[in-house]
Amino acid sequence: MAESEPGNAQKVLPEIAQDRDKRLRMNYLQTIEVVCPFCWEPVVLAVDTSGGEQSYVEDCTVCCRPMNIRVEIGANGEANVQAEC
Ligand SMILES: [Zn+2]
Repeated sequence: MAESEPGNAQKVLPEIAQDRDKRLRMNYLQTIEVVCPFCWEPVVLAVDTSGGEQSYVEDCTVCCRPMNIRVEIGANGEANVQAEC
């Protein structure tokens, strides 16, 4: 019986590159806590800061009223998020 298969095939795992790519993209998604302007409860938002400054409407997870979310990106890349009624 000749087991001629060397069995030492080295595999370069593509997951490493994918993981790094994923982590880069994850950095854009920041979880930011704002205070709902209606019920004054803290609400955690997942804000995609890769889109730069933006404003959109998101329902409060506590009282379900629509908050106007305004995202501003500071000079240091830090997102400044405000919720307004
Ligand atoms: Zn609320």
